[in-house]
Amino acid sequence: MPVSSTLPPVEVPQQDIWAFLFERKDREYPDDKVIYRDADTGRSYTYAQTKTAAHEFGKGLKAVWEWRKGDVLALYSPNCVDTPAITWGTLWAGGIVSPANPAYRVDELAFQLKDSGAKALITQLPFLENARKACAIAGIPDDMIALIGDAREPNGRTKHFGSVRNISGATRYRRTKIKPNEDLAFLVYSSGTTGKPKGVMLTHSNIVANILQLHASESGHLDWKGQHNNEGDKILAFLPFFHIYGLTCLIMQSLHRGFQLVVMPKFEIEYFCQIIEKHKITFVYLVPPVLLLLTKHPVIAKYDLSSLRMVNCGAAPLTHELVHAVYKRLQLPVKQGYGLSETSPTTHVQPWESWKDTIGSVGKLLPNLQAKYIGADGAELPVGQVGELCVKGPNVFKGYLNQPEMTKQAFTEDGFFKTGDIGYEDKNSFFYITDRVKELIKYKGFQVAPAELEGLLLDHPKVNDAAVIGLHSNEQHTELPRAYIVLAAGVEKSDKTKAEINEFVNSKVASHKRLRGGIFFIDEVPKGSSGKILRRVLKDQALKEEELK
Ligand code: AMP
Repeated sequence: MPVSSTLPPVEVPQQDIWAFLFERKDREYPDDKVIYRDADTGRSYTYAQTKTAAHEFGKGLKAVWEWRKGDVLALYSPNCVDTPAITWGTLWAGGIVSPANPAYRVDELAFQLKDSGAKALITQLPFLENARKACAIAGIPDDMIALIGDAREPNGRTKHFGSVRNISGATRYRRTKIKPNEDLAFLVYSSGTTGKPKGVMLTHSNIVANILQLHASESGHLDWKGQHNNEGDKILAFLPFFHIYGLTCLIMQSLHRGFQLVVMPKFEIEYFCQIIEKHKITFVYLVPPVLLLLTKHPVIAKYDLSSLRMVNCGAAPLTHELVHAVYKRLQLPVKQGYGLSETSPTTHVQPWESWKDTIGSVGKLLPNLQAKYIGADGAELPVGQVGELCVKGPNVFKGYLNQPEMTKQAFTEDGFFKTGDIGYEDKNSFFYITDRVKELIKYKGFQVAPAELEGLLLDHPKVNDAAVIGLHSNEQHTELPRAYIVLAAGVEKSDKTKAEINEFVNSKVASHKRLRGGIFFIDEVPKGSSGKILRRVLKDQALKEEELK
């Protein structure tokens, strides 16, 4: 039998995100509370300013770009203080936001633009050139690109957010009616269990539910210093807004709860410390490789980080040792969260009151969720046994865009989403993630789809066949993508060939997808009878190669 969350269920209203955020009666903080602040310039948006800017942008979308319900706005930008207003404004106009990693190269972005059917794109000046090239490939005209951020194009050719907002005559436009359970709010990209990145369809209800599930799992709990202080808390927006973690847990949660979000565009450890000291940040959501820096980097000692009260870590596996090391150095508790793009994202969090006794666990199932474990044959396993985690609940996505077969494969017959992660639940209802059955590689929390890199490698004239796997690095607390390559006949197995292939890959992909785990030549890619790559065999081989080093 599947298990249900041990937390009391929450009521999820049948509301779209705009109504949930901006038409609520139970908001506990004032209109002039600053919610979003740029870490460098101090430029900020209060609650009321966010609402006005979003509303004006939404009207501008309708007036300037003839926005229709279901139109997709691509967002190709590092974290920016204007992103929330753009996001809420697009939803006001009935649109769907599809964020892309600003590190994407032209072809990677063009893929997402085409796949999502994006109608327009928002970016920042340093990314405009790539954006234009990708839009040209995807058939998006130049005048459907607009800029956010402080920098403007010198010749003023590209529209700016400000000008899209101040459209005269746009007052006659009304908010588009949304069916919260059906209509999409976000289209984020994930490779899921197998294959290339796919559009994860997240409805308004999925997101509203996840915010309420998160809130319910925390409210009433005292944090480790005994003060629960939504009003005074300042969260550092380190996680990217192009990932569902950033969209839900940062930009949406802060507006819902009244936290101030201090927006940093790019991670660099000293800059990170400076912002914490300057803005007296109280809460950060991090990934394991950054925690590692907090334990080791000499620059940490130069800054006063004592305002930090809590760290939440997610997106990748976290070891006991790292949690202890952070606590030892900074007296900071680290609790884990777990989830996926497909679950909007959070399904589990570690409660504060028991973080010390459950280190290593991803915590408890959020309210309104059910979970079960299945074996390799798909049969349900008794509670406590190790298997693939499956979940069901209101935050589980609608499916992959235009991929009915992949969508079908992602669910069990009784409607549970198969996470592709392996783990177990203990007798106190704490969940543990121990491994992954899916192909996905995560480099510092960023997704790397082996199938995408394999496709690219096969385009190289010297490559006959290729398989990519993730190799865990204990030193870096992350996985590294490693390629096994069968060379074309007559090609020399040399360092020069490796360097050539490496350069080719680097010229085509965002930095996080680089083959940091190395390139190895093999005579044949091990495959099963159906032609499926036997990644487990290569992973075992990789472990042996590492031992021999
Ligand atoms: P994404 O869709 O990019 O959020 O990636 C989701 C995947 O990240 C999950 O399926 C896990 O493999 C991994 N993940 C997320 N959080 C954790 C965690 N706390 N521990 C281990 N793996 C995690």
